[in-house]
Amino acid sequence: MRLSRYFLPILRETPKEAEIVSHRLMLRAGMIRQESAGIYAWLPLGLRVLNRVNAVIRAEQERSGAIEILMPTIQSADLWRESGRYDAYGKEMLRLRDRHERDMLFGPTNEEMVTGIFRSAVRSYKDLPKNLYHIQWKFRDEVRPRFGVMRSREFLMKDAYSFDLDQAGARHSYNRMFVAYLRTFARLGLKAIPMRAETGPIGGDLSHEFIILAQTGESEVFCDQAFLDFEIPPATTDFDDVAGLQATVDHWTSRYAATSEMHDAAAFAEVPEPARMAARGIEVGHIFYFGTKYSEPMGAKVSGPDGVERPVHMGSYGIGPSRLVAAIIEASHDEAGIVWPDSVAPFDVGLLNLKAGDGATDAACASIQAELEEAGLSVLYDDRDERPGAKFATADLIGLPWQVVVGPKGLAEGKVELKRRATGARETLAPAELLARLRQGRT
Ligand code: ATP
Ligand code: MG
Repeated sequence: MRLSRYFLPILRETPKEAEIVSHRLMLRAGMIRQESAGIYAWLPLGLRVLNRVNAVIRAEQERSGAIEILMPTIQSADLWRESGRYDAYGKEMLRLRDRHERDMLFGPTNEEMVTGIFRSAVRSYKDLPKNLYHIQWKFRDEVRPRFGVMRSREFLMKDAYSFDLDQAGARHSYNRMFVAYLRTFARLGLKAIPMRAETGPIGGDLSHEFIILAQTGESEVFCDQAFLDFEIPPATTDFDDVAGLQATVDHWTSRYAATSEMHDAAAFAEVPEPARMAARGIEVGHIFYFGTKYSEPMGAKVSGPDGVERPVHMGSYGIGPSRLVAAIIEASHDEAGIVWPDSVAPFDVGLLNLKAGDGATDAACASIQAELEEAGLSVLYDDRDERPGAKFATADLIGLPWQVVVGPKGLAEGKVELKRRATGARETLAPAELLARLRQGRT
């Protein structure tokens, strides 16, 4: 992609309304634009990151056995009356009425709808377990939308819903998601810690929030530092191995970690002093077993091996991809701008032409762009007629993992410069060596 033809509305000024660094950088880098309070348009650069985050989430959902569907944003109030939540949900729900005076709503979540889909199709334990997920926009009329897409009113959510015959099955489904989440956040370059969360009237221990430590986080958290060095379950994990997954989850819940709502000061005091961490965090995911809370009132039943019909056991599993984009920036930036992890960068390479209009430099850049793109790398080619300083500043601000700097001086010696954004490390090499060097990966 040539920058001169792209749509990248960079802001020179730091927007005053933005209180935290991710919000400032997303606005400055032209990733998002506010349309109303807590409602954002995703501009090209932001959308590319959001799509890459979604791709990682999808890959790990599929690996763990979940199946993608797509439910609508607009839902019928009648469905929510069946569970009793239409009246219970309160002001966060955006309520609408259609031309036939039917009550509708913009979905804040999808338990009712997915339960409706399930009950219309599944009758027998032989069809279980199932886990259906989608990635869809949600609306919650938050009292205090803030921090850009971190807490917005319209936001993207990956929400998965599991269905099992009994609680033991549901626990395994829960464990699958638990492990999928560990892998997802690690692939996004994040260290997320599963923390005990409220289970409400259901009780038990099957509710965890996945929290990223960050000074700007809205949650107050308490945990054992040991988590930061825990090993992430490998891609070869067997998601059908009930005991194996349980062992992984047991390990990842063996140390103290709780948000303020679940905090137990006495238990926390037993964490050895040097490892005891009281910090702030960002909730990026939440998994929850809620048994028959919806299947019971909504009549979603399956017959077991004994022929007896029972309400199905369910869990729900949310991740916020739009919040994650901001959370990744909170975790990975410096004074000059964003530092994207390779896995979600909007482009792999920024190609900087230091003398646009110069025949030899233009030709070298065009051929580098063609070669890298041919090899499957995405390239944002800064071909604008701008000072080198402005190009460096833009490249650092938007944070592409690699910068290839091409100028007439270097070219005269047959060299270009390669910079790794994360470390600032630079090396000079021949254009013909670039591809092999980039494939070799990080320095
Ligand atoms: P919070 O405590 O932050 O309000 P929640 O408990 O309401 O979150 P869930 O209903 O569990 O959130 O939603 C699942 C995921 O959706 C959250 O972990 C978060 O990543 C994301 N999410 C929830 N609310 C918002 C929001 N207002 N803006 C952006 N992402 C959100
Ligand atoms: Mg909320």
